[in-house]
Amino acid sequence: MMLPEHEIVISEEQIRRRIPQLAKLIAADIGDSNPLIVVILKGAFIFASDLVRHFDFPYEIDFISTSSYGNATKSSGIVKILKDLDEPIKNRTLLFIEDIVDTGLTLHYLTEILKIRRPKRIEIATFLSKPSRRKFHPEVKYVGFEIDDRFVVGYGLDYQQQYRGLPYVIAIDEIATKK
Ligand code: 5GP
Repeated sequence: MMLPEHEIVISEEQIRRRIPQLAKLIAADIGDSNPLIVVILKGAFIFASDLVRHFDFPYEIDFISTSSYGNATKSSGIVKILKDLDEPIKNRTLLFIEDIVDTGLTLHYLTEILKIRRPKRIEIATFLSKPSRRKFHPEVKYVGFEIDDRFVVGYGLDYQQQYRGLPYVIAIDEIATKK
């Protein structure tokens, strides 16, 4: 797929500066708890890999995958776990890593369902957040950048599985809304 005409929403330089700041805040908060980093696939993989390379404390990593944007989930409010965690989480501190919090449904659902397994603590870090779109309100303590209600791709975020590898974030509303 060709790179669309685009407007850069978050630049490489902004990302480069922000990641170590977030890592420092997270380290100060949960760095002494050997947290389980829960990467929400697929979109969060680049953010997670940049973030953990700034972590100077012990942690483990696991991956979880939910049904994706644009499927039945969006209107019905039902989120399906496609790939569950491999590790038990009882009494552990969890740090969810998400690409973008939009309505908040995914993280609301995931945190509620995983609470049943009795983790000690759950924190959430997201690369992007669209506060104006929120319908559910999971507590998201770490936010890379707040953005307006635009459809964005890059730095892990896709449109039809493309553009994840862009090192910056662009808005492609005109393409994504045309269907
Ligand atoms: P929520 O459950 O918070 O409504 O939606 C979260 C998911 O929606 C994200 O993990 C992401 O997959 C998708 N999403 C929401 N906004 C965007 C966007 O602007 N661009 C892309 N690529 N995905 C988005």
